[in-house]
Amino acid sequence: MEDSLDRSRWARLLVPLVALLVIAAVLRAPQPTIVAPPDVLAPAAPRAFSGQLAARQATVAPPDSQSVLAAAGRLRLTTASGSYSLERVQAIASSVEVALDYVEQRTGLRLSGPVTISFDRRESCALDGAAFTERRVIMLYACPDLPPQRAVNILAHELVHQLAHDHWGAAHLQADLILSEGFATWGAGRYWLGESASFRAFVVQHYGAQLLPLGAHYRDYASIAAMNQLYYQWAALVEWILEAHGRAAFDRLYASGQGPTPASANYLGVLGGDLGAVEAAWRAWLAP
Ligand SMILES: [Zn+2]
Repeated sequence: MEDSLDRSRWARLLVPLVALLVIAAVLRAPQPTIVAPPDVLAPAAPRAFSGQLAARQATVAPPDSQSVLAAAGRLRLTTASGSYSLERVQAIASSVEVALDYVEQRTGLRLSGPVTISFDRRESCALDGAAFTERRVIMLYACPDLPPQRAVNILAHELVHQLAHDHWGAAHLQADLILSEGFATWGAGRYWLGESASFRAFVVQHYGAQLLPLGAHYRDYASIAAMNQLYYQWAALVEWILEAHGRAAFDRLYASGQGPTPASANYLGVLGGDLGAVEAAWRAWLAP
């Protein structure tokens, strides 16, 4: 179990890594290395840790930031200078409300309290988001020219992290990375699926037989394309678990995580097979 010092250390390590990934993404932009639909592209690395971070790391909007209330006060959207204008935040608020309703319905979960969504920006203009679920703060880093739909797509994913925290409580912070990111991506559903009807269909169409090992960490690849692929594969795994084993089993599996690393959950105890066996069954389901 990590302590807060460890987490702070992680945060310091992540900043340069993230910057590197973003630079790499920008440099490689002309090449179609990311196969996800352009409006659902996963942002840079910090989002992968969202939902897993200690609340202390959340940087809340500055006191002089302005805010908009939405979803009957369940959402407070704030913006800092350099990101979206207040007018743009006002314009996007109804779309975020729709996204919240959608992910609550899709996951069968509901926010247990208000959430602050804080629009901010990184110097590099990198797009990413992070959910600091203990503090009920979602950060969305974006520059003013980011298409609003991309912001909403990411917020849908981050809101599912908050729903997961509200449902599983402290166990959420120890959740297996495969399941926490898989559930957030699966829960975002149409916001990440583009034209695909399911994550199974998405993975088959975009990755075919070129699958990455489910237990891999995207840090092993240091590429945004690989991170994207793992997120979609993990979402498809969640889809399979829900279909093959049911929601109650998925809930138990999620709660069994021993830390925010891939494969920390008790697959053998809950699903009857270790991750290797689960992966084999999942692959057979993907391409029967
Ligand atoms: Zn996430």
